[in-house]
Amino acid sequence: MFRSAADNSDNTRFYDVLGVSKNASPDDLKKAYKKAAMKNHPDKGGDPEKFKEVSQAYEILIDPEKRAVYDKYGEDGLKNGMDNNDFMSGDPFDLFNSFFNPNGFKRNGKRRGEDIVKSLKVSLEDLYLGTSKKISISRSIICSECNGKGSKSGKSMKCGGCEGRGVKFTTRHLGHNMIQQMQNLCDECKGSGETIGDKDRCSTCKGDKVVQDKKVREVIVEIGMEEGQRIIFSGESDEAPDTEPGDVVFVIEQREHPKFMRKGDDLFYEHTLTLTEALCGFQFVLTHLDGRHLLIKSDPGQVVKHDSYKAINDEGMPIYQKPFMKGKLYVHFSVEFPNSVSPDQVKALETILPPKPLSQVSEMELDECEETTLHDVNNIEEEMRRRQKFQSEAYDEDEGEPGGQRLQCAQQ
Ligand SMILES: [Zn+2]
Ligand SMILES: [Zn+2]
Repeated sequence: MFRSAADNSDNTRFYDVLGVSKNASPDDLKKAYKKAAMKNHPDKGGDPEKFKEVSQAYEILIDPEKRAVYDKYGEDGLKNGMDNNDFMSGDPFDLFNSFFNPNGFKRNGKRRGEDIVKSLKVSLEDLYLGTSKKISISRSIICSECNGKGSKSGKSMKCGGCEGRGVKFTTRHLGHNMIQQMQNLCDECKGSGETIGDKDRCSTCKGDKVVQDKKVREVIVEIGMEEGQRIIFSGESDEAPDTEPGDVVFVIEQREHPKFMRKGDDLFYEHTLTLTEALCGFQFVLTHLDGRHLLIKSDPGQVVKHDSYKAINDEGMPIYQKPFMKGKLYVHFSVEFPNSVSPDQVKALETILPPKPLSQVSEMELDECEETTLHDVNNIEEEMRRRQKFQSEAYDEDEGEPGGQRLQCAQQ
């Protein structure tokens, strides 16, 4: 009843494998699959090869589209991707693989290799001005000596470990008649499905088919690029036989700047003023990311409040791919107050500052007031956290007491 996997020219084998007729209904297929899978389950002494065949046949026939292709063209139809080139590839087992890993295959039937992803650390100056970096990347390339065959003669033998399939199957019984089939890359041939005799091995790649290569790439960081942006070298990742190489991808990672902070197209700059500067005017020189010196000064009579912002238009980040346009530069001002003032300074200040509000408390009312003391608070958040913790601990202790008292009452 079971024919060898190599004999796949007709379009009845999958039906034979499951022991059903060509007009079997999906229900018939399910029943037949369950029966055959249980019978051939390796955990119950069944043949793993047969079990695999059963699973494969079922997977194809239960899918109406694939069943139609199979009925019309047989396994070759599945192989050649007729009517179904979306996910068909060279080997029927690739079809099987595609159930597990639909993204691992491309339209042309080649496996897609992994991308090489590297982080590219740049300064904010680099992103402001644009730059290029020479980065050396090592990758595998097809051995030119043997053109990726791995052997001198160009011949290879079927791998004994996986019978040329490149994958090994294992099954697990999950209980309740559920079976999980797992596939792993063949460790003996690393998925190629072939082995090469010792004497026939290519002397350059030692039969690996690929050799290591180091290539310096010039990575262009364009003006205005930002954190997380990707610079892609398409198809320049590791080469392997029958594989479309993935991409080399550089992901921009911006180092923190001591003075500037970027938010989108805008820049933020921290500046601290003394109280005198905040009240009487200030000027300072800001060195921009391109080395230009900007003179920042207040208007006559202008007062700057603590924790306030002022903006300078068109001095922010250049906009990606529109470098002639720029965001805003925000200056965040902090005002430093003196820690204390002497009685003489108070008198002098009172003569020039706006007068204090008149006391609205009468002498009589003052007599009835209680004196208070103002304590310094340095970090209100931390102090509140400490107090909350203290209060909740005190509450926990209180909570224990009424219970204790009740118990005492009950005993009386
Ligand atoms: Zn193998
Ligand atoms: Zn070689």
